[in-house]
Amino acid sequence: MKFHAVLLEGLFFASPQGDLQVQTETGEIIPVLDRLLPLVGQQVQLAVHHLPSGGVDPSAWGWGSCQWKPAECPAGHHTRPNFLFSFSGNGVLLQDPWRLDLSDGGTSPIDFAVMPGHHGRLAAATVPDIEKLKDELIGLDAGVLGAKVDELQEMLRKLSEDKTK
Ligand SMILES: [Zn+2]
Repeated sequence: MKFHAVLLEGLFFASPQGDLQVQTETGEIIPVLDRLLPLVGQQVQLAVHHLPSGGVDPSAWGWGSCQWKPAECPAGHHTRPNFLFSFSGNGVLLQDPWRLDLSDGGTSPIDFAVMPGHHGRLAAATVPDIEKLKDELIGLDAGVLGAKVDELQEMLRKLSEDKTK
C-alpha cells in the first residue's frame, strides 16, 4: 500500500467555481479536496478544524479564525462567536458527500462547508501507514529526508494530539 498523507494549513476559501482551496502561509494556493482524492476508499485518520491565526483572540469570531465579520458566517459565528469548528475521526474516506464510514457501521459527515473564510487545518493519513511510519521514523537519520521527515513527525504529533482529545 502506498503512503498517503495530507497536511494543509492556512486561510480556506471557495474558488469562483466553488471549489474549496487553501492559501498557505507562503501564499501558495492549493485545491483542498483534490489532495484528498488519493485517500478516498482507504482507512484514514482525518482532522479538520478552525485554527485562529496569530494567537487566540477571545473577543473575535471563532477566536480569531473567522474572516466573515460582519457578514453572516457559514459556520454560524454571527450567532455563536465562540464556536470553534473541530472534526476528527477514523474511518474509510468517501466523497459525494465527503464522509467517514466508521467501523461500527455509522457514518461521520465531514462538513467542509464551514471552512471557507476561516483559518484552519486539515490533516489526514492512511491509518496502517501511520503505524508503519512510526517504526520507520525511529532510528531514521533525519538528514536523509530532511524537511519531509520533520513534516511527517509534526503531522503524527498533531494527529496523536487529536486522538487524545
Ligand atoms: Zn466564521
